[in-house]
Parts: sequence; C-alpha cells; structure tokens
Amino acid sequence: MHIPPEILAVENYAIQIRRRLHERPELSFKEEDTARIIEAELTSMGLQPRRVAKTGVIADVSSREWKTPNDGKTVAVRADMDALPVLEETGLEFASKNSGVMHACGHDAHVAMALGLAKVLTGSNPPPHGRVRFLFQPAEESPPGGALELIKSGALEGVDYVIGQHVYSNFPVGQAAIYYGPMMANADSFRLKVIGKGGHGSEPHRALDALVVASQIVVAAQTIVSRRIDPLKPAVITFGTFNSGYRHNIIAQYAELTGTVRTLDEETRDKIEKELTSLISGLCNTAGVRHEFVYERGYPVLVNNPVVARVVEDATREALGESGVLHPEPVMGAEDFGYYITKTPGAFYFLGVRNEEKGIISPQHSPSYTIDEDALKFGMAILYGSTRRLLGGTAL
Ligand code: MN
Repeated sequence: MHIPPEILAVENYAIQIRRRLHERPELSFKEEDTARIIEAELTSMGLQPRRVAKTGVIADVSSREWKTPNDGKTVAVRADMDALPVLEETGLEFASKNSGVMHACGHDAHVAMALGLAKVLTGSNPPPHGRVRFLFQPAEESPPGGALELIKSGALEGVDYVIGQHVYSNFPVGQAAIYYGPMMANADSFRLKVIGKGGHGSEPHRALDALVVASQIVVAAQTIVSRRIDPLKPAVITFGTFNSGYRHNIIAQYAELTGTVRTLDEETRDKIEKELTSLISGLCNTAGVRHEFVYERGYPVLVNNPVVARVVEDATREALGESGVLHPEPVMGAEDFGYYITKTPGAFYFLGVRNEEKGIISPQHSPSYTIDEDALKFGMAILYGSTRRLLGGTAL
C-alpha cells in the first residue's frame, strides 16, 4: 500500500469537509449551501469555479505550461453532491441538522475527496500536463438527474476522459471494485393506470373491477423475467406502488401502479418493455377495462471504457496494493454517470467504506449509513494516480 504524502497531507482537510457537508445535507437540485461551500473552497485554492445547472459547480486545474487545448488532455473528475429524504439515525456528532434529509449515499464523501484532490493539484503537485476538470454534479439521486444538465451546459466540452467513484458499503475499506463489462444497470420506470367501472361491492356484475385486473397484471408480470427472458441476462421488474380503492364495500374504478425495470443490455431492455406493454394491454382488453401505460427510459447502463478502467485499476493497485483490487459482479442499481461515458471514454469504480471492526456495516440509503473515513485518502489516491496516468500519457 502506498498513499502519496501529498494525499496524506490533505486527509484531514477532506475529513473536515465531509463532516461539514454531512451536517447540512440538501436534496437534489437544492444543493445551495453545498455549492457555496464548494465555490468558496475552490476560490480559496485560487481557482475560478463556474456555476452551472442551478447548483452544479465546475472548475479547471491546469498544468503549469497549459495555455490552449492543444497543450494536453483534459480529465474530468465527477463528484455528485445531493442527499436523500432519510431521517438520520447514526448518532454521529456531525449528524444531519437538516431533519429528514441525510447524506445516506455518501455523496458528502465524493465532494470531500474531489476537493481534497483539487487542493493537492493547486498546491505543489499540479497536473503533469493538460488539465483536470472538476464536475460537482447536483441531483444524482433524482432521475432524470443532474448529469444531463451538466452535459447540456458544456461540462464535457474539451474533455478527453472522465472518471468518477462511489463509496459503497458492500466492500471493505482499503479495496476498490473495478469493472470491465457492465457495472450498473439501465434503470427504467413505468406508470400504469387501470380504468374500470366502479360500483357497489355487492354487485360485481354491474362493475369492472380495476383492482382485480391490476392484481392479475402484477402477478402475471412475474413471468416475464422467469419465462420470456434469457436466464443468462440479468433483469428485474419491481412494482413499487399499488394504489386502488375507496372502502371495503366499493368496487375500485381505478388502480394506479408504478415500478422499475433493471437490465444490463439493450436487447433485454427492449424485450421487457415490449412484453410488459403487451401483457398489460392483453389483460386489460380481456377484462374490458381501459388503461394508460407510460414506460420511461432512465439512467443508461454504466459500461466503462476498458482502457480507462485499466488505468484506474493500475492506480488502485499502486495505492492499495494487489489485495485492494476487486472484480465483483455488477449491481442492478443505477447511476447517471452512465451519461458521461456514453459521450466520453471514462471509468467509474466503487470505493470500499465498510469496516466490520468499527461497526460500519449499514447499507447505502439506510438511516444508520456511514463510512469509514479512512476510505477518503484511498479514494483520493486512486483519483490522483488515475488523473496523473491519464495526463502523463504513458499508460495510454
Ligand atoms: Mn449514490
């Protein structure tokens, strides 16, 4: 394991920033305080941050010889900023003071590590060539998300590579998960409204029961993944909400359902949309009820560029040693980082933050979620090593 001294020198800074942000979590596109803290920190480092997409912040750190975009490559480092509507139960000294809102996904750590890296690069260790562009992105947690807004505002213009990380409680501190195939899923959502004919609970023959039809749809849809999809293709269909009915003796005129579909490839994604659409219209036609079905494609599957992933793996091995590199199975969660790497070669990785001995074991998004702060220096070392390799040009 080798953490460069310049990273160790900003470790405490990153910890303090993380705690400050943790105390004042803000929801998607409402990251006003967070953006102000980021801007103030970047400005005090001598940078010129610019505000984009409402609460997003972008800043460039150039090498000493940088004058024009011909003077080297540009690597973007992305950190998402938003928190979640969760009531914190960690009991930490720096627990959320914004009741009902919590950094339960660790985005506070992402911002802290990016600022720590900015501090290193603006000190006596500037980028060897080219530039590093920091992308502080709002609203990762709330699709359609902040990445598209940042891209629209020109965040990727002149960017050659983009890298990002996510703290992840499934992996132990001191390890990072690097992926070459799909890493995170396509995340689509759907809304269904079944429109029947209400009536008296004692007279079903005079009504069209939307609740019964919707129930059949939920059960029948379970056969799409099990009977219509290649068992070697991962897929999830989850109905998350089901609202219907008024009272015990009234036949429901309406049923409203929502859900999510997760896949790792486009063929399976298309197939599920088609199967779900035809299953719903088939059952509704048979029952003689009307329906409205809206299927929306969300965050795209996250597939790393293999060359950039290799650079990140090499940087991880250098910082954390051989045992620090993991190659696990993909997860069916989703990330809007996928939008950046459909446009620009890049890589995303999971940074382990779990520590059984310290009792840091709670899953992402849980009210007792926290991280082992030792992970901050590891994450900064990986980002630092990756940007240096990508800008040095030797690894490519
Ligand atoms: Mn997250």
